[in-house]
Amino acid sequence: MIFIPKDFEEAALHNLEATLEALHHGIMMINASGEVHVCNATAFTLLNLPADFFKLPFNIADVMPQLANLEILQNEDGSVAELQILQHKFIKIHAKSIGFGNIVLTIEDISHERTGQSAQKRAEMEYRSLFENAVCGIYRDELDGTPVRCNTALATLNGYDTEMQYIGAVTGAHGSWYVEPDRFLEFKRLMATEGRVRDLVSEVYRHRTRERIWITENAWYVRDTEGNPLFVEGTIQDATERITTLTVTERQANIDTLTGVASRFRFLRCLDDMTKTGSPGCTLYSIDFDRFKEINDMLGHATGDVVLKLLAKRLQSIVKEPDLLARLGGDEFAILQSNLSPQSNVEALAKTIVDALREPLRINGHDLSLGASVGISMYPNQASDAEELLGNADFAMYQAKAAGRNGYRIFDFELRSNIQYRKELEQELRLAIADEQLELYYQPIVEGGTGIVEGYEALMRWNHPRRGLLPPSQFIPIAEDAGLMTELGNWAITRACQQMAVLPSHIKVAVNVSPSQFRSASILVKLRRVLEETGLDPKRLILEITENVILSNELIAEKLLGKIQELGVGVALDDFGTGFSSLSYLQRFAFNKVKIDRSFVAGMRELPANLAVIRAVVSIGRDLGIGVVAEGVETQQQVDALLREGCKTMQGYFYGKPSPYSNIVSDIAVEKLSQALPVPQKAQIRLLR
Ligand code: C2E
Ligand code: CA
Ligand code: CA
Repeated sequence: MIFIPKDFEEAALHNLEATLEALHHGIMMINASGEVHVCNATAFTLLNLPADFFKLPFNIADVMPQLANLEILQNEDGSVAELQILQHKFIKIHAKSIGFGNIVLTIEDISHERTGQSAQKRAEMEYRSLFENAVCGIYRDELDGTPVRCNTALATLNGYDTEMQYIGAVTGAHGSWYVEPDRFLEFKRLMATEGRVRDLVSEVYRHRTRERIWITENAWYVRDTEGNPLFVEGTIQDATERITTLTVTERQANIDTLTGVASRFRFLRCLDDMTKTGSPGCTLYSIDFDRFKEINDMLGHATGDVVLKLLAKRLQSIVKEPDLLARLGGDEFAILQSNLSPQSNVEALAKTIVDALREPLRINGHDLSLGASVGISMYPNQASDAEELLGNADFAMYQAKAAGRNGYRIFDFELRSNIQYRKELEQELRLAIADEQLELYYQPIVEGGTGIVEGYEALMRWNHPRRGLLPPSQFIPIAEDAGLMTELGNWAITRACQQMAVLPSHIKVAVNVSPSQFRSASILVKLRRVLEETGLDPKRLILEITENVILSNELIAEKLLGKIQELGVGVALDDFGTGFSSLSYLQRFAFNKVKIDRSFVAGMRELPANLAVIRAVVSIGRDLGIGVVAEGVETQQQVDALLREGCKTMQGYFYGKPSPYSNIVSDIAVEKLSQALPVPQKAQIRLLR
């Protein structure tokens, strides 16, 4: 569009106008007073003005004040300005003076260029900001490790204030940066094999201060278009806090806080590792202090803690890597010894442990000696898994304790099955009395010369529902340990009295009494009641006690002995000659009878000393008025020899084995019958007078 003066030639005008309209650039001619005289359509479009709205000439200041105010309109020839028209529309205006204050403006669309450029700039700025403000360290290194760029965080991490300080100070490879040189090798290995490193945790030195810190790092290659590495870039994060708090919790879980040795948790984890298939195997020592509870109760928990600490220290000085000492709780410690351990002599180590713990401890001016029991079990020879190994070592430890403390025991399969058997039997024995599984067998006690039966010894049997008839040796020791002996013994006294009360009145009965029964006066109460209930003449009852009964408490034994005899009940010293038996017992305690153990009778002919003892006992018995009974008489020769020594009363298989009550009842009946009807005598004994 051109404002046309009157004298303009029509054809030339047309050509000019067509040319202007064909231009890509906007064209505008403004005069000195700001009037626009020439303006093509492109100019309108670029200035975002509606072309049909304006009629030339118009004043630019009325339409586009920003353009009117542009300096270039006043400036000399050739000046350029850029202008933003809309958010994404940018133009560039070239001004050309054509004389008389007239200016031609060429207007160019630079939107594309400008918006593209600003996005890149923005991205760059954002990236810079990210890079600079990032909390984690970011770097770019040459392939040999020489730093190219880094952010402030990375410089700070290494003890420097700025990137420049860092780059100035650090040269080349970072091998010495890592506390463990292996970590650098690992870094290089990962870069070589995988081309990057992900979240690798290492301990490193701050470059400037050499202070140790933990880091997590990531790294990757920057490659050219062909894929060849150009640089290494990466991020590094300070992980010290995370790792150290982790270690604190891990430490708490792994270390026993009181003693500083390994915790139960750590021990079980180790045990688990060592008892996996393919592991070289291990030996477990279960340690329990013998008198810890006593000391704890006596001197208080604080002292108990001190004791534990000191003993743990002693143990720790014995245990060498890779073996592990742990406190499993209370005063329970354990040592886990790898089969790869140089200290492989199990018994030697066990002995060292026991000796070390036996040494007295000096605490608050007291010398305390505890001692310990150690149980040992081995994997895989003695256990198929960790649990079994633990159980076996504990089992062996209890064995050691039972064997008198201050010692060690190596686990033994046979022993364990014995103990398991005993445990089972103990359970069953508790039910046996109520279930009437117990029975008394009777063995005759005979006058050797005549064969007349003086009485019977009551001997207990257990009719076990599955195991058959059990002799006392198989259950009495268990009953003793389980505290069942008094109950069992009382049952025997009652039953013997009941059964004997109905037999001919010259027949006596001897009942065995165990030490635990003989410990208190309650046996007197029991005896009185039974005698009353059964009506048995007290003179027909004899209690057999061994010298152990006396040994356990002489005073009580002496008193009880007297009281029992006051009831009219007799007391026999059983198994004479087996223990410490001294003839002096016979003088000190007023026994009614003494039974010479069957080992003396058996060895009478071969060992003159045995004969001498028998002779002496018979002689003392005669002097003190104590009846003498020889036990275990099996042959006619023994009968004859005993008779020669003046020992008249005998008991043994020769005269009869222990047999059920019903048998002796029927024997008596038969003999009664044979007295009436003269039939040949069946045995050497005579039940009736
Ligand atoms: P003990 O009191 O010395 O009983 C004698 C033991 O010797 C009995 O064994 C008996 O069967 C056995 N015996 C008897 N004559 C001979 C013989 O000629 N040759 C051989 N080789 N052995 C003979 P048993 O019945 O097995 O009893 C063993 C022990 O059990 C008894 O030894 C006694 O100490 C204890 N006992 C048995 N019954 C009771 C009881 O009711 N209470 C208590 N506390 N202990 C009992
Ligand atoms: Ca006996
Ligand atoms: Ca005996």
